[in-house]
Amino acid sequence: MSYDIREFHFILNEYLLLFAPAPLRVALAAAPEARALADAWLRRAGAVADDVGASYQEADVEGCALEPDGRVRIPAAFRELWQRLGGTIQRDLQADAAVSAQQDLMLLHVRQLVTEMLLGANPSFMAYGGFTHMAIPVLASQGTRAQQELLLPPLRDGRWDACFCATEAEAGSDLGDVTTLGQPTPQAGVHAITGEKIYITCGQHDLTENTVHFVLGRTAPGASLSCFLTPRLWPGVDGRLIDNHVRCIKVDDKMGLRGCANTHLSFGRAGLTRGLLLGDRAGIGLVQVAPLMTQARISTAQFGLGIATRAYLAALGFARRRRQGRRLGEFSAAAPRIAIVGHADVQRMLLEMKAVTEACRMMMATLNGHLAIIRLESALAVDAATLARARALAKFFVPLLKAYVSDQAWRVCELAIQVHGGTGFLRDSVVEQCARDVKVLSLWEGTNYIQALDLLKEKLRFGRNSQVWRAFREDFETFLRAAADHPPLAAECAAVREAYVALVAVVEGIGRLFAEREWDAIGQFATRLLACFGDLYAARVLLEAAIVALVRLAAPDLDPSARAFYCGKVKSCRFFVFNQLPELRARAAVIGNAATSLVTMADEEFGFTPVSTHRTRPARVAAPLAVHA
Ligand SMILES: Cc1cc2nc3c(=O)[nH]c(=O)nc-3n(C[C@H](O)[C@H](O)[C@H](O)COP(=O)(O)OP(=O)(O)OC[C@H]3O[C@@H](n4cnc5c(N)ncnc54)[C@H](O)[C@@H]3O)c2cc1C
Repeated sequence: MSYDIREFHFILNEYLLLFAPAPLRVALAAAPEARALADAWLRRAGAVADDVGASYQEADVEGCALEPDGRVRIPAAFRELWQRLGGTIQRDLQADAAVSAQQDLMLLHVRQLVTEMLLGANPSFMAYGGFTHMAIPVLASQGTRAQQELLLPPLRDGRWDACFCATEAEAGSDLGDVTTLGQPTPQAGVHAITGEKIYITCGQHDLTENTVHFVLGRTAPGASLSCFLTPRLWPGVDGRLIDNHVRCIKVDDKMGLRGCANTHLSFGRAGLTRGLLLGDRAGIGLVQVAPLMTQARISTAQFGLGIATRAYLAALGFARRRRQGRRLGEFSAAAPRIAIVGHADVQRMLLEMKAVTEACRMMMATLNGHLAIIRLESALAVDAATLARARALAKFFVPLLKAYVSDQAWRVCELAIQVHGGTGFLRDSVVEQCARDVKVLSLWEGTNYIQALDLLKEKLRFGRNSQVWRAFREDFETFLRAAADHPPLAAECAAVREAYVALVAVVEGIGRLFAEREWDAIGQFATRLLACFGDLYAARVLLEAAIVALVRLAAPDLDPSARAFYCGKVKSCRFFVFNQLPELRARAAVIGNAATSLVTMADEEFGFTPVSTHRTRPARVAAPLAVHA
């Protein structure tokens, strides 16, 4: 099992009721029937997640391959799973089953948790069709009527899927170097696509009848990027699907997500590849696909949380089973061996995993709350100031969570291996696979440095009093004032306030570095600044959860398992605030001390002989080394 239903109920029925952004608290409290519905959704999704998760390890072993006839083979279990569940999971996650704004709101939050469950259960399988629901709104808002009539019905009913093709061998983080072309043909609206794209997730497979590639390219060399809708099979005039000459040249042999086919694709090499210019508008491709890239970043954070939670729960289960050693300070050989969960150092690791996964889940729920305000603005009669704040904070959270959750998830998986000891290093250990699967999340959808730069440049305007920064400060200071009303958590609250003050000073310091055009310092500090924001916000939500827990713990008739659950919440907060959060002050000191902490290097100062990063065959030795003179 890769999820914890008790924790999900805490988020939906306790945490959000007290700490969701203001207009949502009222709406959620007024909808007890929506909570009953949420419970039913969660139970159903739990059964599906168990089903989907059954092939997690088997599919990793089988992997994907390019067959001699050019087809891409994916794990057999996925084919069976897809036939049974079809694209229904992805569709259900998108469907609007709600009949009221309250239900709609609850559905948005339930979807977050269900997505986490499923992505944690089997991230490779969930990648298939995973891009489609992000592509549909882009097509619905940007496509011409003809494009929508042609492509939306099969995408919506799951017969076709979509994938995103941006990256090229020489254009990764910097899409300014994309060379793929989409040049007009005599056929109105049709462009001839030529070029190659690499790493494309689920770029070719036969689970669906067809795949629509959203290809970034140019109408002419040097022109701004456009988006071309390029089906693998082209719908001919008689409705028949004909070869559109999109070929898979290679299936990547990856460290993780091995059940997910990542493909190197060529367009227009084997014959004419036709593409439709999205909305018939050239040069605005990046603007058109911006919502899709935003959603992909949110999904990346959900992937991270799902996999990290699975790794944490696996480590916890192992630590309870594995008996090894005696309590520290127990010197008698006759003393009983204990389960490793009783050792203080193992508890340190489990506590870090527990606190971080809980914090990330609440931060995701907070982002979701801001997105819900934007989406349900009129149904919930949201005022202009609240809406503006929600928009600003949603912008702030997207790069923050993409990078912070994926980095934390990698750390959680590493800790999960450490808790397992040698067992965790073996290929049949689930945590070993979790670590391999989770690593890509800091790389794709813009590396985590690109997210840090986005946060610093676009959202915080290099510390120059942006709207996002003002909204963040106003929101955080409101929280600090409210948290001060809880004396049992006074020490935790004071520590979070101190960290906040340190962060404000850091952001102001970045403003000065910008004024002085200290680009190296800004570039070197960006990632650590993002980590400061992540740790600060994590501490805040853990403090909020502890406040909820203390209220519950005051009830005299609490059953023992509920008491343990809430005590665990208070301890997650205490652990994080007094063990992890202090790192923020160290990072803040580094950033505030740029005159001495910044170190830049001339290439040769690194001093090492470059080593090949690709697998090399062992050199053939013609004759054994001469050992005799
Ligand atoms: C499993 C997998 C699935 C993927 N799926 C897709 C997909 O479906 N569609 C798609 O289009 N792409 C996909 N990608 C590509 C992915 O988005 C890119 O790998 C990513 O954008 C990084 O590009 P790159 O690999 O070329 O790294 P590079 O851009 O070469 O970066 C290498 C390192 O240099 C750093 N760096 C680069 N530029 C700068 C700079 N200006 N300043 C400071 N540091 C810099 C980076 O942060 C990174 O640490 C996928 C990749 C993988 C591994």
